[in-house]
Amino acid sequence: MQCVLKWLKRQINTWLLLELVRGLALTGKYLFKPKITIEYPEERTPLSPRFRGLHALRRYDDGEERCIACKLCEVVCPALAIQIDSEEREDGSRRTTRYDIDTTLCIFCGFCEEACPVDAIVETQIFEYATENRQDLYYTKDRLLATGDKYAKQISANLADKSQYN
Ligand code: SF4
Ligand code: SF4
Repeated sequence: MQCVLKWLKRQINTWLLLELVRGLALTGKYLFKPKITIEYPEERTPLSPRFRGLHALRRYDDGEERCIACKLCEVVCPALAIQIDSEEREDGSRRTTRYDIDTTLCIFCGFCEEACPVDAIVETQIFEYATENRQDLYYTKDRLLATGDKYAKQISANLADKSQYN
């Protein structure tokens, strides 16, 4: 009996074009509503201050690197994407001689930023850094510092916004 009912239902659906009508009704429902698509890249959606994009190394206002080569970020990185070498300076302070991030390994978890005691390594809101080769996705200390320098104001403002979530 159930088989017959199923068959009957299928036949009604088929001959009355009910699925087509349902589809058209759904289209009609949204036809005159405001469009929710945006024309990227001319238009952009807002980003959360907690967005995790390209990494950057920051400096203090006097130009000194923030990073003290404690290697906490390297240790905490689950993807082993960070490579740090360090040495002691003449004044006794410790600084990195190498700070590389392989973003092809990075999973953008944000642990490095969370672990950093001096807010040196951060993830910016930059997400347009597609390249045509893998080498360009390997970020050396110079490149990370350059990103930090270039977007210093934006990064500071973003960190201030983010503090509301701490
Ligand atoms: S965001 Fe996560 S995976 Fe990427 S470098 Fe930082 S700790 Fe490693
Ligand atoms: S970026 Fe921060 S956590 Fe990583 S080595 Fe430098 S000071 Fe330490």
